[in-house]
Formats: sequence, structure tokens, C-alpha cells
Amino acid sequence: MAVNSAQIADFLAAQCAEWPLAARNFGALDGVEMRTVEMPGWTFKVQFNPARIVSSGAKVDARSLAERPCFLCEKNRPAEQRGIEWGGYTILVNPFPIFPRHLTIPANDHTLQRIAGRVADMLRLAGELDGYTVFYNGPRCGASAPDHMHFQAGNSDFLTLGAAIDGAELRPLLVDEDGAMLAVCTSLPINIFVIDAPSPEAGAALFDRLYAAMPVPEGEDEPMLNLLAYATEGGVRLVVVPRKRHRPSFYGTEGDGCMLLSPASVDMGGAFITPRREDFDRIDADVLARVFDELCLSDEEINLIAENVQ
Ligand SMILES: [Zn+2]
Repeated sequence: MAVNSAQIADFLAAQCAEWPLAARNFGALDGVEMRTVEMPGWTFKVQFNPARIVSSGAKVDARSLAERPCFLCEKNRPAEQRGIEWGGYTILVNPFPIFPRHLTIPANDHTLQRIAGRVADMLRLAGELDGYTVFYNGPRCGASAPDHMHFQAGNSDFLTLGAAIDGAELRPLLVDEDGAMLAVCTSLPINIFVIDAPSPEAGAALFDRLYAAMPVPEGEDEPMLNLLAYATEGGVRLVVVPRKRHRPSFYGTEGDGCMLLSPASVDMGGAFITPRREDFDRIDADVLARVFDELCLSDEEINLIAENVQ
């Protein structure tokens, strides 16, 4: 059942050889333009990726979802798309990539995008896929299929989150007897929690305690969040990005100040994806600061959660 990065590299190559859409879209990544934007303690990348209009412009309201065939269900997948079975999930190549190596990992059943009870799976996968970051977008925090549970994964060296955390101040909140630690970090442009654990189970146990302390917005089933996980020398790291809003107030395609930005885990991981040229050109540190101010938690808001963790 276990997978490894070498096996995934072969799988990606095989899918690109037999699936023209995947080959074309992975090939197109070689030509996408990238810039960097410096913020205190964190260098962000900006990628101009017109193919991602599908995701950034996605309609995720209940009616739109009900009217489309679910692209993560096996019966609706393209004939060329093959999968690797992995403990109740299937590892797939993402045919609309952001990363040079980009995977989608749906649950085998068509079941709602909810993280409760699944963080140990996520951390186990991150531990097996050395060099990859496994991520989860909450149903109202960037998931384009909030009706079908899935993770994604991409090569970690594309993101700048790891380097930012390595240079940041982490304030420990909980440390268990095995040395697993939950910490809060308010010294970066995005306020986050970081869990470092020697095992997936220990990490998941700390996540559960944090999850219980996070507010659930009215009408929602879970706290708004993005999660990113990757293997470390001592085990696994889980980064929790609490959110308070899905898209910025200036989200859109019409009007002077509007930008088509729909930030999710990848953006919170340090790589902003812009499907439109004008947004790519306009993003700077001020725009990013406004996005984080609207979508992420203030120092006061994250410290309130930190105080409530038990
Ligand atoms: Zn489905």
C-alpha cells in the first residue's frame, strides 16, 4: 500500500506519455512566467497560469455542483487517467497542474470534503512522499470539488513556506511526551499554527486538539482552513492556516480594483497563482498584505484560538 517518490515520478512520466491533455498542460508549465514578491520573512512567488482559470473562476455553489458530473468520481474520469490505490484513496495525476509534479488524491467514495478523522492519512501520505507537500483546501477555502473529499500534492521545492517557517519564531503551545509540538507563529505575513511530530498519529492527535479550539462559522461544518504537510528529518510537519474568508472583497473580473485571486493552500504556501496577465503584473507586497488581512486571522484572532487549545 505504501508509495514512494520514485514510483510517483514513473507514474507521472507514464501518464504524460499516454494522456495528451496531461502532457500538454505539464509541458506548458515550462513556459509560464514567474515573479517574486518580497514580504517580511517570506519570499512569495507569483505564477501567471492562464489554464488555471478553470479553478480560480470555479463556481462552487450547491446548484452548480449538483449540475456537473463529479470529476473526482472514478466513473466520470477520462479514459486515459489511471490511478494508484492508496488506503481508501486513489492517487491521480492532476491534468491542470500548478506544480511541475502535481497530484490529486480523492477518496474512493463520493463523500464531502471534510478533514475530521483524516489528518493521520494526510500525514502518513506526506511521510511516504518525500519531497512532496500534501495539502487540503477546506470546502470554502479553495476546494474546487467541495462535494468530493480529496487531497492534493506537489513537489515541495516549488513552495516557499518551508523556508519561511525555518526562519520564523514558533511559540510552543503543547508538547506531548513523545516530543510532538503544536506551536503558533505570528512573526510571518500569514498567521499560522505549526505541528511537528515524530509520527502521523501524534501529529493528528495535536491537530484534533487545535481543531476543537477553532471557531466554526455559522452554517459550516468545519473551521475554515488550509492545511499543508511535508516530511521532515524528525517526522512530519503540518501547517495549519486558519481562514475567515473564501475570496478577497476585490475578487472578480470587472471593475478597476478587481482581481481574479482565489487563494488556497498553494497560495498560502508561498506561490500565488494568477490566471490573468493584468493580475500577474499588479500583484505586489501591498496587494498580498490586503489579501492576508481579509482572508487570514489577525494576531488577536489567532491568539484567542491559541489560548483555547487544551
Ligand atoms: Zn465524486
